Amino acid sequence: MPPLRKVIISILLLGLIAAASVPAGAASPLLKRGMRGAEVLSLQELLGKLGYKVAVDGIFGPETERAVQEIQKSAGLDPDGIVGPLTREVLARLTESVVAYTVQRGDNLTAIARRYNTTVSKITSYNRLANPDRLLPGQILLIPTQSVPASAALRLSLQWPVQGRISSGYGARIHPVLNVRHFHGGIDIAAPEGTPVKAAEAGRVVKAGNMGSYGLGVVLDHGGGLTTWYGHCSRLLVRVGETVKQGQTIALVGRTGLTTGPHLDFRIKIGDQTVDPLQWLP
Ligand SMILES: [Zn+2]
Repeated sequence: MPPLRKVIISILLLGLIAAASVPAGAASPLLKRGMRGAEVLSLQELLGKLGYKVAVDGIFGPETERAVQEIQKSAGLDPDGIVGPLTREVLARLTESVVAYTVQRGDNLTAIARRYNTTVSKITSYNRLANPDRLLPGQILLIPTQSVPASAALRLSLQWPVQGRISSGYGARIHPVLNVRHFHGGIDIAAPEGTPVKAAEAGRVVKAGNMGSYGLGVVLDHGGGLTTWYGHCSRLLVRVGETVKQGQTIALVGRTGLTTGPHLDFRIKIGDQTVDPLQWLP
């Protein structure tokens, strides 16, 4: 397999983790209830991507307003349901594309920033770099960008851990057990109890055991800050410290932890940040 550390990928970031600044689009008109048109339509498409169930019909109705209010509330804005410059800025951040880049020998921030059509200060603040002049080879930088260069094609070789229907996607959702809106950091793949769970990529087992509401779970470390997570299993077949091959059965599907039925909750993290597995899987 190509070393994961060398892989450059683009991910859709669904979280307010960034200190990066995004143009606020102050020139755009306000969008509010009762309005119609293409601008409303693209707002609704965006809300859909963020996990909100709104009709994409170009009409700013109560559903769209409610979704906007929820986003405003979670961002600490006045929940007036009107999309003005501040709300636009929040939406832009929520949907910003982020590239995980592994620093190579001889790299410097100016060159990296130029390559990704962004700025040194954006990368510095996004990664909270104390000393931007000292980059270490192997270090992972998250690079906020609206335009991913062609060279950043997905060259990742992950495989599906389980075949099955995605019963719940990545992002904001209503929790099936707790019935509250929360952020789902993985994808749920429905499969019968006992179905083999395969390692999505070769790696080392760094966690294997009871993980509370995540049930019986396994975490594989693939190097470069990348980990994959497998939750709600009925049985674990590996131990901490073991190395596993890609495709090796590491556990069996189950319903341990907080679940409504047997499924695999599969997650991918870069450092502490979850990313959308569907952006990574073939
Ligand atoms: Zn889940």
